[in-house]
Amino acid sequence: MTTDGSARAFCIDGRDIVNRAIDIHKTAPTATAALGRTLLAASLMGSMMGEKEDVLTLRFKGDGEGGAILACSDYMGNVRGHNENHQSERPLRAVDGKLDVRRCVGKGLLNVLRDTGGKEPYSGVSPIVSGEIAEDIAYYFATSEQVPSICALGVLVDTDYSCKCAGGLIIQLLPFADPSIADKLEENVKKRSAVTTELGEKGLEGLLAGYLEGIEYELFDEFDCGYVCNCSRDRTDRALISLGKKELQSMIDDEQQTFELGCQFCEKKYRYGKADLKKLLESAK
Ligand code: ZN
Repeated sequence: MTTDGSARAFCIDGRDIVNRAIDIHKTAPTATAALGRTLLAASLMGSMMGEKEDVLTLRFKGDGEGGAILACSDYMGNVRGHNENHQSERPLRAVDGKLDVRRCVGKGLLNVLRDTGGKEPYSGVSPIVSGEIAEDIAYYFATSEQVPSICALGVLVDTDYSCKCAGGLIIQLLPFADPSIADKLEENVKKRSAVTTELGEKGLEGLLAGYLEGIEYELFDEFDCGYVCNCSRDRTDRALISLGKKELQSMIDDEQQTFELGCQFCEKKYRYGKADLKKLLESAK
């Protein structure tokens, strides 16, 4: 937080998160960058929420070959996510030799959903203006929530397809922000190199310091977050029960002896035999 209360900043070193996503989904480099940036954004935005039960969901529904990208975060920035086409791979951009995330994501809509326990969930939407993720997040905040924001995200994929470096930050102007702080931030943004370059060279605090150069600020909180999936046999049971008696009965009558339900976020498989399904049938309506 800037000392004068004009702006707040959140930053993340997310290499482990992205590497976990690669392990699970076996993503090709462009898909890794698209999913990785979305996970980083979701983690940052999730950590802005205040309550234990709060869940933030980001969904990029573009027409690119990578398909829709989904990421969910809790209030501590623990995320999970997946993209429709893990194998999406674009030729490197001719202009700078970088991963072509824009083409992978395509044009469409960005949905933001904040589920805050019992209350009505908050839902916002904005067009995907860039497809590079960070610009889309900044545009979303500016138009849908009227909060002027800076967002920078970076995922550097190594030659062995693992993630070498990943990180990002979101800086938001608070109501009644000093205009000179806004000007200074804008000036600093122009001087920045790629997020992964600065993070790699100067670390997380160094990355933040560059964006906040010449502005007094205080660090409030630092915590660990990761790629965390909260799926369980119990949740899968409930999903099956919610299918209803008729559907469950037809699964029991089916020739297929065992059914396997996979979690889309961690690829964990849950197996159900006939006896399991019969047990669930008793609880179904
Ligand atoms: Zn899972």
